[in-house]
Amino acid sequence: FLSGKTAVVTGSNSGIGLGIAHELARAGADIVLNSFTDAAEDHALADSLAAAHGVAVRYIQADMSKGADCRALIEKAGVCDILVNNAGIQHVAPIPDFPAEKWDAIIAINLSSAFHTTAAALPIMRQAGWGRVINIASAHGLTASEYKSAYVAAKHGIVGLTKVTALETAKEPITCNAICPGYVLTPIVEKQIPDQMKTHNMSRDEVIAKVMLQRQPSGQFATVEQMGGTAVFLCSPAAEQITGTTISVDGGWTAL
Ligand code: NAD
Repeated sequence: FLSGKTAVVTGSNSGIGLGIAHELARAGADIVLNSFTDAAEDHALADSLAAAHGVAVRYIQADMSKGADCRALIEKAGVCDILVNNAGIQHVAPIPDFPAEKWDAIIAINLSSAFHTTAAALPIMRQAGWGRVINIASAHGLTASEYKSAYVAAKHGIVGLTKVTALETAKEPITCNAICPGYVLTPIVEKQIPDQMKTHNMSRDEVIAKVMLQRQPSGQFATVEQMGGTAVFLCSPAAEQITGTTISVDGGWTAL
């Protein structure tokens, strides 16, 4: 049902962004993949996605830590019916030790990038007469954990931006919502496992069960396919009146 629509997914050469790109393509949307790299593999990934789903897929390099690059991504895409603000990074440290440059990078990539892409995309959506903005927040957009100050601040911030975007488009056929994933086993999470094994003197399996999934009552990771399916739902007619809200896909984390 999304054929004829184009989705721009930021930070989509791995993990949740790529999973969302797959599910939107499966539903018929043309796709713009993005990351800050410009490697042969990035373009090959676009070709394989196109071949798998029979849709048009382009890879456009743009660094989401830079406002001008964020806006240029949307301008180069030219069309943007569905905008998925997904690019994100993590850094874990107590506030007094938290490197200021990491704080700045996390706020820029996880929060400010969505402001810039949304600013560039809304006029295009208005001209097309339809639009969906989907922000990938986190359970950490609704709750906190120690040592993740920048990430939790950025994710709470993107939930706020989601509400404002929804209000400014409320009278139009445009919606804006945030998906709040719990733990999903992607590279961003995989990278935290060795540190957690050292910090807690635990095996990989213990870290997964006792540290990561301890907050997730289901005891299971959520999957990138589930994030993609939720994004497809937000683009469906059933979701036309859903705007300015969050959808948790977190195995019960935020019910605790
Ligand atoms: P990931 O590391 O696999 O993906 C992050 C993506 O962002 C990659 O494609 C990377 O290339 C891209 N990226 C990083 N810096 C960029 C930059 N400067 N410019 C452009 N692209 C950049 O991680 P993921 O788990 O797939 O995370 C995707 C989103 O989901 C993030 O916003 C993350 O905060 C959020 N999230 C993840 C989880 C989880 O458990 N994995 C939970 C909640 C929220």
